Amino acid sequence: MPVKNRFAELLPEITEWRRDIHQNPEILFETHRTSALVAEKLRAFGCDEVVEGIGRTGVVGVIKGKSDKSGKTIGLRADMDALPILEATGLDYASKTPGAMHACGHDGHTAMLLGAAKYLSETRNFDGTVVVIFQPAEEGGGGGREMCEDGMMDRWSIDEVYGMHNWPGNPVGSFAIRPGAFFAATDTFTIAVKGRGGHAAKPHETIDTTVMASHLVLALQTIASRNADPVGQIVVSVTSFETESKAFNVIPETVTLKGTVRTLSPEMRDMAAARLKEIAGGIAATFGGAIDVDYMKGYPVMVNHGEQAEFAASVAAKVSGGCDEAPLIMGGEDFAFMLEERPGAYILVGNGDTASVHHPEYNFNDEAIPAGCSWWAEIVEQRLAG
Ligand SMILES: [Zn+2]
Ligand SMILES: [Zn+2]
Repeated sequence: MPVKNRFAELLPEITEWRRDIHQNPEILFETHRTSALVAEKLRAFGCDEVVEGIGRTGVVGVIKGKSDKSGKTIGLRADMDALPILEATGLDYASKTPGAMHACGHDGHTAMLLGAAKYLSETRNFDGTVVVIFQPAEEGGGGGREMCEDGMMDRWSIDEVYGMHNWPGNPVGSFAIRPGAFFAATDTFTIAVKGRGGHAAKPHETIDTTVMASHLVLALQTIASRNADPVGQIVVSVTSFETESKAFNVIPETVTLKGTVRTLSPEMRDMAAARLKEIAGGIAATFGGAIDVDYMKGYPVMVNHGEQAEFAASVAAKVSGGCDEAPLIMGGEDFAFMLEERPGAYILVGNGDTASVHHPEYNFNDEAIPAGCSWWAEIVEQRLAG
């Protein structure tokens, strides 16, 4: 693999950082130790500016090139947060915090971007400025959104942003990308179904919420099967059905449903949100109860920009000899917020034949480090060629 020699040399050091972060996972915005470690290393590398506390616990490092004739600034982003999962890898550097685990490989992403920052600080072989972005709370907390809301893009005049995620099942160190919509918008809903409780042997005296909610669960499936264009992509999943009743003979007063909606276009997203409320209203009217829908918009669709995705693929091909076309992914990714603010691209780097992300036996594959770091370095040296 034509990885930069520098990273072959740095590999043991970067691996050590990765395993240290792996052993000390932190969830959502609680990345205090990880953020401090990142900031300390960026200062030690000689970054021109290191700012902590962007998007609560996010860290930004600035590296100026040998010249700045281009006047351009490129942002490179990694995520730092772990997941609330009990690790089952049996590794000698497994999580020291029971119930927290780097099960999505953000330990690897952080270590790889640190490796690239060290290389770029030493070599500065580019014309312009690099901003390395370390964000907390990718896993549902919207840390990327918070960094954008803190004015990061304007404060450092970022022109383009790039991101990377490891991908189990793809050959280690290989790359895959697609232009346009890539990761889904991830919305959630809580639905309160209200009726009249009572004795299970006297259903005529009740407004049975379990029957109402059951009709609703089935009817919501028609958003995907009857309302959405069949060539579009949408998932509507009801994932929780709860009542306050624990008895065999009580019809509960309320049922609470929870679930998620995944879409790949703003039109489909708006349609799903509207239909969900209309269907709920119709079911409530049918049975004479009431249904309240709380629809919560999560991450937007993550859309790769065409020109930058093409450039990212060409860099990947140079680093690892090729770049595959990635499939559409119905998972969410809050790098979407950064790609809404600036053009850029997000790429997958193969993690080899490992457990899937979010599995208790998953582990980031350190063999992907040279390819990942080289991709970062090449993005900068090619995009900001002097
Ligand atoms: Zn994840
Ligand atoms: Zn992840």
